[in-house]
Amino acid sequence: MSKKALICGISGQDGAYLAKLLLEKGYTVSGTSRDAQVSNFQSLSRLGIRGEIKLESMSLNDFRSVLQVLKKIQPDEIYNLAGQSSVGLSFDQPVETLESIATGTLNLLEAIRFTGEPIKFYNAGSSECFGDIGDRSANEATPFRPRSPYGVAKAAAFWEVANYREAYNLFACSGILFNHESPLRPERFVTQKIITSACRIAKGETETLNLGNLRIERDWGWAPEYVEAMYLMLQQQRPDDYVIATGESRKLQDFVAEAFACVGLDWSQYVTTDSSLLRPTDLAISRGDPSKAKARLGWQAKYKMSDIIRSMIETKLAQ
Ligand code: NDP
Repeated sequence: MSKKALICGISGQDGAYLAKLLLEKGYTVSGTSRDAQVSNFQSLSRLGIRGEIKLESMSLNDFRSVLQVLKKIQPDEIYNLAGQSSVGLSFDQPVETLESIATGTLNLLEAIRFTGEPIKFYNAGSSECFGDIGDRSANEATPFRPRSPYGVAKAAAFWEVANYREAYNLFACSGILFNHESPLRPERFVTQKIITSACRIAKGETETLNLGNLRIERDWGWAPEYVEAMYLMLQQQRPDDYVIATGESRKLQDFVAEAFACVGLDWSQYVTTDSSLLRPTDLAISRGDPSKAKARLGWQAKYKMSDIIRSMIETKLAQ
């Protein structure tokens, strides 16, 4: 009997790569979307796995809906990747962000507890929980001080997972993932916005790319590698939380310069900064220390920023 995995939020970037990985490992994979009849599951199609996955509609905010899907699928492992995932949008939709992340995670934990089955649970945590900690690398012992509604919601979900693990002995883990990118990243995220603009200009379009603060530093990793860490967390003897990062941070300006150079352009001729794109509060530097994941999971990021830019540009130019 193959193991059964349920991926909540399978239509997103990570959902698609995780589904591919689990199928390769012999799992039967089911996935949820808020409305599976309407969602186009383009990312699954792009990876050529759309037909191999059972798709279900599930509203994370609705306990009945969550319980129904769990009873129907009877998964061995649940990966919760669903929820409003944009930091920028969370300032405009704070309630939607909090409910989809914090209430959604709580409903999943409660439903697992309700079934009484030994279901293993992975929850998508975020480096945004740490807030602005200066030029230091965050590890699992670094206190949370989030600076966005998204970060606040992810911090609440993190403690829900930790509490259910402790109080009810659930096999529940949070991966505290730093930014990770891929050609499946939607254009609302700054990396894909930069790549898409650079490629359009290289193909002859006349346009200016408007960005916010170019001095921020981020620890950018490669999404297909990061989903391996999610899987590994659920294969351990004991549930735990792990920081997943490359351990290196680079300025957004470096990302822009390299992306434009990759298509033979000088970025400074095409990029302007626009103060309306600044967030009410932001993190100056975000960098993780993935030592624990390396020691316990044997996981280490191989792709660095330059590899990520090259891969995203190649895919975009070929489209
Ligand atoms: P995506 O935004 O690509 O996917 C998230 C999925 O959640 C969507 O496909 C969507 O599915 C569902 N969703 C979106 N908005 C809502 C909402 N308001 N309520 C309920 N469901 C919603 O995210 P990623 O794949 O990039 O990330 C996966 C998870 O990891 C997310 O929880 C994200 O916050 C977290 N994370 C991501 C990082 C990154 O750099 N990518 C870094 C750290 C954490 P549908 O429309 O089909 O319902």
